[in-house]
Amino acid sequence: MSNDKIWLSSPHMGGNELKYIHDAFDENWIAPLGPNVSGFENDIKKYLGGKVEVAALSSGTAALHLALIMLGVSNGDEVICQSMTFAASANPIKYLGATPIFIDSESKTLNICPDQLEIAIEDRIKKGKKPKAIVAVHLYGMPYQVDRINRIADKYNIPVIEDAAEALGSTYKGANCGTFGELAILSFNGNKIITTSGGGALVNKTEKMKQKAVFLATQARDDAPHYQHSEIGYNYRLSNISAGIGRGQMEVLDERVRARREMFEFYVNLFRGVEGVSLFSEPSTDYFSNHWLSVLTIDSEVTGFSREDLRESLGALNIECRPLWKPMHMQPVFADSPFYGTGVAETMFDNGLCLPSGSNLSDSDRSRISNAIKSHLKKDQ
Ligand SMILES: *Cc1c(COP(=O)(O)O)cnc(C)c1O
Repeated sequence: MSNDKIWLSSPHMGGNELKYIHDAFDENWIAPLGPNVSGFENDIKKYLGGKVEVAALSSGTAALHLALIMLGVSNGDEVICQSMTFAASANPIKYLGATPIFIDSESKTLNICPDQLEIAIEDRIKKGKKPKAIVAVHLYGMPYQVDRINRIADKYNIPVIEDAAEALGSTYKGANCGTFGELAILSFNGNKIITTSGGGALVNKTEKMKQKAVFLATQARDDAPHYQHSEIGYNYRLSNISAGIGRGQMEVLDERVRARREMFEFYVNLFRGVEGVSLFSEPSTDYFSNHWLSVLTIDSEVTGFSREDLRESLGALNIECRPLWKPMHMQPVFADSPFYGTGVAETMFDNGLCLPSGSNLSDSDRSRISNAIKSHLKKDQ
């Protein structure tokens, strides 16, 4: 059996990506605009149910940056953000000179805790500043508690930016992730469920908002024959080449979701009956996760091994696993930011592990993973 590296999540082309890239070459649309860009935007719009307007951008991080700008976030403001997430959810808050206010996770979905969210909003208002926005994340593809978060956001009239970077193909009560926030962001980075090599999108509720996003993403050029600017702009548009990859990837998105969910079932079966190990799954039928990454938690007092023990065992066999995102309130760079919580995210970070979840893993990859895990379990029990 080969000993090639088994990645956590690697790009998986569908086949038609090159056709769209060839179209771009044939028509000389080698630019951050063109038929693939608008085609890709339409594909995503259709996938999300047809009622949103999508702006394709150079990254998910750029989309978050623009979302914050469009909601009027500026220097000195406060923005609420889920603590357990990738740093890209929080960094754009700092780009604008605003302060992230971090919120703990709840244990059902690993996402922003509604109770702590409300405590934080009340406290920030009491201290004199109402938060300008709430960044809520569907971590690893698992939808956050959409109804409860929206109810709180509505009660205090604070817009939600939905970070759906990991959740394209996930649904909550039958509706697509990416359609719940005032604005939502998607990512097509190389490790996401589909990729454009690098890219992202901002999902808008109206055509007017989309136009504003595109305006900001193309250097905020006023309508004039010369170059005229009355706002600061950005160079954040997706290239027509990358969008061609995206068009090919959209054709196979449903297959990719199916394959990721099958990987999750593979792990559920593999760990069935193993005391102290549980796979992180949907709390109810309201939730449908794309299972971008399969996550397990280890109770080391029961198992006798930690997540690091398991990670190192598999790593030695060239099988990549990763701890969960280290919460932002534990990161040196955000040491000065307030945090509201009770330790849920910290415990998950200590005990959780992400397993190889790619849609392109083969039967032989799966038997290597299975053998490695079984031999680890035997060694430790
Ligand atoms: C990947 C990711 C982003 C950023 O997307 P990029 O396209 O890499 O800039 C933001 N938030 C979360 C939760 C992510 O996983």
